[in-house]
Amino acid sequence: MACPVRISALHYLVFLSHLECSSCGLRHDWLHLQNLCTACRKPLFEKSLWRYRELLPLPAGEEPVSLGEGGTPLLRAKRFADEVDLWIKDESLNPTQTFKARGMSVAVSMAKYLGAKKLAVPSAGNAGGALAAYAARAGLEAHIFMPRDTPRANIIECRELGAHVDLIDGLITDCGAEIDRRKEKEGWFDMSTLKEPYRVEGKKTLGYELAEHSDWQLPDLILYPTGGGTGLIGMWKAFDEMETLGWIGQKRPRMFAVQASGCAPIVHAFEAGEEFAVKVPNPHTCASGLRVSKAIADFLILKILRQSDGGAVAVSDEEMICVAREVGAREGLFVAPEAAACFAALKALLAAGKIASGERVVIFSTGSGIKYLECYGL
Ligand SMILES: *Cc1c(COP(=O)(O)O)cnc(C)c1O
Repeated sequence: MACPVRISALHYLVFLSHLECSSCGLRHDWLHLQNLCTACRKPLFEKSLWRYRELLPLPAGEEPVSLGEGGTPLLRAKRFADEVDLWIKDESLNPTQTFKARGMSVAVSMAKYLGAKKLAVPSAGNAGGALAAYAARAGLEAHIFMPRDTPRANIIECRELGAHVDLIDGLITDCGAEIDRRKEKEGWFDMSTLKEPYRVEGKKTLGYELAEHSDWQLPDLILYPTGGGTGLIGMWKAFDEMETLGWIGQKRPRMFAVQASGCAPIVHAFEAGEEFAVKVPNPHTCASGLRVSKAIADFLILKILRQSDGGAVAVSDEEMICVAREVGAREGLFVAPEAAACFAALKALLAAGKIASGERVVIFSTGSGIKYLECYGL
């Protein structure tokens, strides 16, 4: 069986390119002692997820391929659930409006550094958009294979970002198979999630930001909309790294994978006590990011859910769409159905008494609803 490759050691590459004003964006030389912005007297930050550059793979001195990804807000929920201390990590503010940007920034940076010229990815939608953007930024070719019923916004986005787009009559696994068949002859580098070691490195910055924004106290519980599981696996890796660095202690959040009823291989495997998931024959859900019938890293996801004393929850499309409006009206966030699934799962877990009142819960709102207008009745 092919297993995902990942970095096993921590990298302590000290690297800093510049400081940037948190207000006006003016760049400052880090080689000089700096306090506030020399123009507007506001604080200077290193912006984007590359703030954690010492913990990311790109060698020092190489310029990352960046569009300002990461550094998203952790918002305190105002009205959605009073019983718990709910926080929302709003990933819709990333370039291309989803958290796929995190993985692709690091993966495209590494692919470019290592000499790749043509990048290919099978995508349910958002990975394609993110690859198209970062490949364009890097001056590389992007070849994107998506199921024909991918949300229109994703298809148009890829095209307008200059990618080569192929629509396949089939599922994301069929898209992956097509790339496998042709990649050698075409000279494509396969950027599929977890078949490539660095997307998970970009996604792990979710864990670093979460800890940093919570004063290095991780929450009691995390709800994560799980397709391939890259973010869940990445965060778990980040927690271990941070413990090694002495930034956090041994406590871990209970990790919950949230999936769609029409495609819930992890939920089924978790409930059956299995180590691996069984491929879902006819996956269907409008939450395209969750339409992954068999995740290559299913065993890693399941291990994390069990180790953390977490769980797995399936949510129907009807519930997602219904809850999305509640989130919109109560919190001011137009969320992707994947994110809406987490809010519905929170309700289900509360109703089942699996979350104690007052516990601190974080939902990863992985994308914007604006990319899913078909789901919301366009
Ligand atoms: C891809 C995607 C997911 C699933 O992410 P994984 O890390 O593959 O599990 C969730 N939400 C959105 C909006 C996505 O695009």
